[in-house]
Amino acid sequence: MRGMTMTGVATALILASAPAALLAKPAPAAPAATPFKLGAATLVPLRDMLNVVPNDGSVFGKGLDPAQVAAVLAKAGAPTDSLTLGVDALLVEMPGRTVLIDTGLGPKVGGMLQASLAAAHVAPDAVTDILITHSHGDHIGGLLTADGALAFPKATIRMAAAEWAFLKSHPASAATVAAIAAKVQTFAPGAEVVPGIRSVALAGHTPGHSGYEIVSQGQRLIDIGDTAHSAIVSLAEPDWTVGYDTDAAEGKATRRAELAKLAASHEWLFAPHFPYPGTGKIVAKGSGFAFVPGHP
Ligand SMILES: [Zn+2]
Repeated sequence: MRGMTMTGVATALILASAPAALLAKPAPAAPAATPFKLGAATLVPLRDMLNVVPNDGSVFGKGLDPAQVAAVLAKAGAPTDSLTLGVDALLVEMPGRTVLIDTGLGPKVGGMLQASLAAAHVAPDAVTDILITHSHGDHIGGLLTADGALAFPKATIRMAAAEWAFLKSHPASAATVAAIAAKVQTFAPGAEVVPGIRSVALAGHTPGHSGYEIVSQGQRLIDIGDTAHSAIVSLAEPDWTVGYDTDAAEGKATRRAELAKLAASHEWLFAPHFPYPGTGKIVAKGSGFAFVPGHP
């Protein structure tokens, strides 16, 4: 009895701190780093891992019959029993700054971000700024090495003030919080976080969830973070509840509004969970949207 109780407590803590890690199964992926230009900046999607999410009504189309999700997947020619998501980060090399947006799941679970960064010929010490979209484990795991040291010792770690408060509110995150606290600088939603990169408030997935819009020589690309997880289901059915969203209603509203904005503006985007390299555009389709892969 006593053992079962302890297990229950431990599970509850993990659930509170890292829902994404529990509801998806990380799978290995080969390192990848394929650069492209955005104005004067060089952008490099960096592959970390894959996440395999079962189609069981817990994450995509939460509360619906999985057959409804399967129908959307089948229509797109995708497997219907599970969804395989990318877990990627975005490197932004600008004059005077080397910026990393998110850090993947991290080396403890087999993440390849550091190998992908090496393939981009960038040393961890060269990263000046890390911009965190939100504090789930598949975005902040790579902040630390396998033995808990800072993986990017010279980088300032930037996240929305609400997101830092959210991370600190989880007792299970105490070790991570202690390791990164001296490097963290927070910002208000909408702030320019480094010259040429503005934060975009996209709350709902988490309280301080933020996108980042990169602008260089009139060209634009936005990293939408986890506003949409599946390039198929999240776009075709943006109003379906996503099990990963902290606030389901706000998550839906933010997802539909941001996708509509992108479909109207034709702006380039990067989504860390879309198929590598995760770049492309959103187009309107039926009552939802569709993804057109590509980059500038
Ligand atoms: Zn995520």
